[in-house]
Amino acid sequence: MNDTNSLDELIACLHCDTLATSPSLAAGETALCPCCGNKLFSRKKDSINRTMAISLAGLMLLFPAITLPIIGVGVAGKYNDASLVDCIMLMINDDFYIIAFSVFLFTIAIPSVKIFSAFYLSYKIKRKQISSSLLIFYRSYHLFDSWAMIHVFFLGIIVSIYKLISLDELTVGSGLISLLLLLLCSTLISITIDQKLIWDTLESEFAPKS
Ligand SMILES: [Zn+2]
Repeated sequence: MNDTNSLDELIACLHCDTLATSPSLAAGETALCPCCGNKLFSRKKDSINRTMAISLAGLMLLFPAITLPIIGVGVAGKYNDASLVDCIMLMINDDFYIIAFSVFLFTIAIPSVKIFSAFYLSYKIKRKQISSSLLIFYRSYHLFDSWAMIHVFFLGIIVSIYKLISLDELTVGSGLISLLLLLLCSTLISITIDQKLIWDTLESEFAPKS
């Protein structure tokens, strides 16, 4: 029986629900719906290498983004600066537990897990070391990628800080620059990662052999 295999080769158009046979594409090519011309999927160029390079850069930025000063405030001759960890600790000391938890979750936990999952996935697929743990990492990547809209929120915060800097009392710390680059890496990963390529690789490895 090869019914399962033939079903696996079908792909549905998200625009008109037409079922088409999934073609095998070369890097850079795009499959279009035969009925409405809508894009079915595309094979991204050099996806694994690009994702691995960007996620490695993101991992290297993680530590400075968390520990280096984000902003510095100078008032009446005194100068203070604070890192992301300092900010979270201050919020906990002032009993702002929910805000402290949200900042930790959206600025440290989610980007870290997403970037590490993307790096681990691309590294293992490049080395052709396909294991069942890759499925767990891919699921976690999917889960945290859906929180990518939080970048827009952070862009708002960064713009607000930039406006405050015109008051001459605040200075941008290297931690903020690292955090900005980290969020940029996280966004770029969403662009470079070829989710269908990863699914196809994992599926061909774990599909029941007949
Ligand atoms: Zn269509």
